[in-house]
Amino acid sequence: MPYEQLLPTTVIGSHALPGWFWTAMDALKRGEYGPSDEQEVYDDAVRLAIWDQKEAGIDVLTDGEMRRWYFVQNFYGKMEGLIERPSLRQTGLYGYDSVPRYWIDDRVRVPEGLGIVEEFRFLKQNIGEGQRIKACCPGPLTLTMHIQIREGDAYKDRVELGWEFAEVVNRELKALEQEGCTEVQLDEPSFGIIPGKLTDWVALLNHALDGVSARKNLHICFGNLGSRPRGRRRYDWMFPALLDVNADCLCLEFANREMVENDIYERFEGKFDFMAGVVDVKSFWREPPEEVANRIRQVLQHCPPERLSVSPDCGFFQLPRWLCRLKLQSLVAGTRIVRKELEGKK
Ligand SMILES: [Zn+2]
Repeated sequence: MPYEQLLPTTVIGSHALPGWFWTAMDALKRGEYGPSDEQEVYDDAVRLAIWDQKEAGIDVLTDGEMRRWYFVQNFYGKMEGLIERPSLRQTGLYGYDSVPRYWIDDRVRVPEGLGIVEEFRFLKQNIGEGQRIKACCPGPLTLTMHIQIREGDAYKDRVELGWEFAEVVNRELKALEQEGCTEVQLDEPSFGIIPGKLTDWVALLNHALDGVSARKNLHICFGNLGSRPRGRRRYDWMFPALLDVNADCLCLEFANREMVENDIYERFEGKFDFMAGVVDVKSFWREPPEEVANRIRQVLQHCPPERLSVSPDCGFFQLPRWLCRLKLQSLVAGTRIVRKELEGKK
């Protein structure tokens, strides 16, 4: 479905967690909350994420991924066939080597699905008429990253495990469509450190997206855990292989890289729409609207406006809520400046 709005604004997925949410998580861990309290915490957190996005004037909303923990960690709790292992490093700064990791016990099963359908259902029930929304799902590569494959496991390597997850993701996306979802997004923050051949992972993404008729976004970034990237922060090496992905739109990050590769649309060969990250989620600087407008103008030198939408670089889950709100406001105000200029040219 084409967008009616010129330069639609959206978010990548996660919203910032409010202060009270962290306090509630501590109380939950101490066993002070019952199931109804817990349900209310998550429901209210989603309502707040919707509220913040709407108040800022964002065009395509998400549920803020408020029911997820550190982007993917909650999904492993829904899987069977894994053995939880202690984190490699348990002291000091929380980083990519601090996260829980898993071994394979048996073939991985996700009997009840990833839970994204339930998230979407709640989002749908809590927005107004005509509001555009999307559902975000981690990609198959990213889901494998916390799992270590050992000799003699049910999967010979990460790619084979990726096929298992591509199937899981495909089922989830199709179930989302059944629920009335018209726009989905696959998130692959691990693509920058891809193990093995790029063409294998492109085939996996296509399997995950196979037969899905909703609008298909693919977000590739360089990681955001602790506001730190991981891997080489360039997209050019992914082309031309990425041209074979069966997605409608590529969602890429630029603001934190000071707009390096802002001409990347020229590598798309007209195959994809473009969602450009023009707000830096890794910086505490609240970029003024004019700065956001400047970034959009740089992208527009290479991409026709009718194919462009704008977003922050990545999810907001590593920022405090007050700053996330300001950045959403800058995103919308900066976009409005450029919309006006484009309308003036008509
Ligand atoms: Zn990202």
